[in-house]
Amino acid sequence: MKRVTILGATGSVGSSTLDLVERDPERFEVLALTANGDAQKLAAAAIRTNARLAVVADESRLPELRERLAGTGIACAGGADAVCEAARMGADWTMAAIVGIAGLKPVMAALECGGTVALANKESLVSAGTVMTAAARAHGTALLPVDSEHNAVFQCLDRTAPRSVRRIILTASGGPFRETPIEAMRAITPAQAVAHPNWSMGAKISVDSATMMNKGLELIEALHLFPVRPDQLDVLVHRQSVIHSMVEYVDGSVLAQLGSPDMRIPVAHTLAWPERMETPCERLDLVAIGRLDFAAPDLERFPALGLARAALEAGGARPAILNAANEVAVAAFLSGGLNFLEIAAIVADTLARYDPAAPESLDAVLAIDAEARRIAGERVKDCVS
Ligand code: NAD
Ligand code: MG
Repeated sequence: MKRVTILGATGSVGSSTLDLVERDPERFEVLALTANGDAQKLAAAAIRTNARLAVVADESRLPELRERLAGTGIACAGGADAVCEAARMGADWTMAAIVGIAGLKPVMAALECGGTVALANKESLVSAGTVMTAAARAHGTALLPVDSEHNAVFQCLDRTAPRSVRRIILTASGGPFRETPIEAMRAITPAQAVAHPNWSMGAKISVDSATMMNKGLELIEALHLFPVRPDQLDVLVHRQSVIHSMVEYVDGSVLAQLGSPDMRIPVAHTLAWPERMETPCERLDLVAIGRLDFAAPDLERFPALGLARAALEAGGARPAILNAANEVAVAAFLSGGLNFLEIAAIVADTLARYDPAAPESLDAVLAIDAEARRIAGERVKDCVS
């Protein structure tokens, strides 16, 4: 039996994970499930999987969770520290699927317990890259990528010959505004931005896909996951999302991983690794798809990608600032205060105003994150007023 914990169990990736775990109760035992505030959805999942513990980060939702779990024998808890405690229960496999920097402390807690951590929460790795990978190494924890592109690269990478890699090519769908002229971008609404053509995902990552900041964050994520330099990381727009990414070798061979755009495939890969497991996912029908298209990314219409590329190359604290400012700007866009083009402008402005030294500890990362949020928040106020 593999003992499993899911951080962010009520979200899009969390639900995909539960779907797989619930199909095979003989193989998976659920230790802990966590969520932010959706006590109803969390309690239902905990009851279905007979979890040992359910945790809401938002303590005000604990009474409701307690009531829903009364008489089930499932323990419950509330608060951000309780989420970290859940991550420390010693699961064999932990899904890190909390969105944003809120996932950083829990993922660090899980990394310190050994086992396998399947990482969807890219924001934590972007912000705390070297701190996080050092913790994984120190504790002998396998950090496996769930992000479909990185999971594809992980599957294509020849670990016996790391120097034979020429470059990694991350594919990008281009999002819903792949062909929208820049003049029309100002008027994009949150509802339009979260309607992704190929993937069904949480609101924040959907907006990131629309600005292409998602691909930028993924460049930084790749640098920490794979033995490559920034100049070996490329982005290729591929609108069908069939090829999930590629690795080019020095001899000219290019290996790609293909599949239906369904997150249960990369999640299943990390769940069964180093073996494989069946999934109910739609099988790839290349005849029905007929053609695959490719294009270079347009940095003029998608400035977020250029900002992320610069942060990738500069390293140090730049990625943490980029991420924090982006989280603030995306939240302001989703709540209706900011226009679409202002998201990248807020990120650029925050990066221009704040340039601390590289963080060397978790606390230093969190301090940089907090200050970058404060600065970005001020800029949001200026834009909105
Ligand atoms: P989502 O918004 O659907 O779910 C987020 C989860 O995090 C929920 O369970 C929510 O309750 C929890 N959460 C939110 N704020 C929290 C807080 N402050 N404390 C504790 N828990 C909190 O998001 P998602 O689309 O599932 O994405 C999750 C992560 O996976 C993100 O980092 C995203 O970039 C990454 N990712 C998602 C996809 C996808 O297909 N959805 C693909 C690749 C990577
Ligand atoms: Mg991705």
